[in-house]
Amino acid sequence: MAEKADILIIGAGVAGLYTALKLAPRPVTVITARPLGLGGSTPWAQGGMAAAVGDDDTPNLHFADTMQAGAGLVDAEAASVLVDGGAFAVEDLMRLGVKFDQHKDGGLVLGREAAHCRDRIVHASGDRAGAAIMDALVKAASTSEHITILERIVAEDLLVDDHGAVGGALIYDVAAGERAALDASETILATGGLGGLYAVTTNPTPAQGHGLAFAARAGALIRDPEFVQFHPTALDIGADPAPLATEALRGDGAHLVNKDGRAFMEDYHPAGDMAPRDIVARAVEAEIKAKRGAFLDARDAIGDAFPKNFPTVFAACQNAEIDPRSDLMPVAPAAHYHMGGVYTDLDGATTLDGLWAVGEVASTGVHGANRLASNSLLEAVVFGARIADQLREKPLDQRDEAGAPADRMEVASKPADPKAMKKLRKAMSKGCALIRSEDELTDVLEVIAALHERETMTSGLKSALVTAELITQGALAREESRGAHHRSDFPETEEEPFHTEIAAEMDDEE
Ligand SMILES: Cc1cc2nc3c(=O)[nH]c(=O)nc-3n(C[C@H](O)[C@H](O)[C@H](O)COP(=O)(O)OP(=O)(O)OC[C@H]3O[C@@H](n4cnc5c(N)ncnc54)[C@H](O)[C@@H]3O)c2cc1C
Repeated sequence: MAEKADILIIGAGVAGLYTALKLAPRPVTVITARPLGLGGSTPWAQGGMAAAVGDDDTPNLHFADTMQAGAGLVDAEAASVLVDGGAFAVEDLMRLGVKFDQHKDGGLVLGREAAHCRDRIVHASGDRAGAAIMDALVKAASTSEHITILERIVAEDLLVDDHGAVGGALIYDVAAGERAALDASETILATGGLGGLYAVTTNPTPAQGHGLAFAARAGALIRDPEFVQFHPTALDIGADPAPLATEALRGDGAHLVNKDGRAFMEDYHPAGDMAPRDIVARAVEAEIKAKRGAFLDARDAIGDAFPKNFPTVFAACQNAEIDPRSDLMPVAPAAHYHMGGVYTDLDGATTLDGLWAVGEVASTGVHGANRLASNSLLEAVVFGARIADQLREKPLDQRDEAGAPADRMEVASKPADPKAMKKLRKAMSKGCALIRSEDELTDVLEVIAALHERETMTSGLKSALVTAELITQGALAREESRGAHHRSDFPETEEEPFHTEIAAEMDDEE
């Protein structure tokens, strides 16, 4: 295995692979914990990618929707960069082989999702946008000479030199059963999200926010970790992860009803079924708590077109013996997307020399307190290209010898053990989910502290605990309600929006 890379990318979802492709011809090494194409959220993305490419649309309108959804915390400059990059992102992905759905005349099929004022979501094979993007990127990356892909290599931490610069990663080669230092002049975190820290999630379970923990431990600035988006309509069929019923279903006219058949969203928001995600998620939760239940009704609006237009959701329904052409789909909110993350500037640079972040692990500022649906794939593409523009021709710094924290070497190279994760996920879903309070958050911190004391600590559990603690500490510190973060003990929104910033090296209590 290579023990030195000029540029190291940790993660091979849309963020990692697209950035790697844009770095050509500079040599780059991409590591991924699982076989290529597995373990991340990208192939699971259903709705598609937002881009202002319709005749009646403009980047300004997309910008306004993004700002509005983010509840006062979107960085306007970052949002401009994002929306201005939409058209190129679509063209470039098509050039790389992504077949977005097109009308007979060649125009792109554009869908609508909540809080978008125009039809602007590009799809592929109905609800298979993520899989189509991933297939094309995997193919392109696997045949690109400048990219070396190392599969089943798990990053366990970042290597940091005496000046605080990042110089690669401590890695574990699953097949060889060996731990090694992989030195690099520039390291790009593209490790994805953290829904796997919650008992009910739409994310693949390995998505446990390890990259966030690495960056925090190395001393990088972490911004707004408390903002976790819950998708309102995961299929409530007892599966882990919970299959998603994409928002595009409501965009196509499906609506939420309770067990009495009452379309309840009008009771919660004037935009009804197309209200912002956090509002729909809390409404669904309220109906479930009031024992009225929540269901998605697509019978009239989509009916017989369901299998063709939403094949992924249809297959998940079939597995649970539900026919959405004639049955209601039971739904519940599930942890879905992390808005906060490792702070970056507009070019993807973190606060540490040698460290960059892209995709869901990053906090570029485009999502604020609530992500606008389908802005995340776009963010990964637009900001991945900007990192590549910075690094493609940059003279490489010779880093001083960098090392991993000493305590890290004492911990077994293993994923978190299932029993400990079960406790953590239950605690996070109970106390740090859609509605939070000081007492509940304090209980979560107690569970995290007790898990830190376990005799059988593993590298995976250690990282999961650090990230869970970051989210919970952020939620405790934010004594207001805003976007996806709702405090029952602080229901008001402060007039002046503010960021939560955590910069100190985490004490992970070993
Ligand atoms: C069900 C679902 C539907 C979605 N639908 C949409 C949608 O329609 N539109 C939209 O814009 N967004 C959607 N999203 C969100 C979007 O898919 C993600 O935000 C995006 O794909 C994240 O891309 P990424 O490259 O940052 O991370 P991922 O695709 O999650 O990739 C992370 C990579 O990092 C690797 N990794 C993680 N930790 C380590 C480690 N320690 N060592 C080595 N490798 C590691 C993983 O193996 C993986 O290769 C959806 C998400 C889900 C779960």
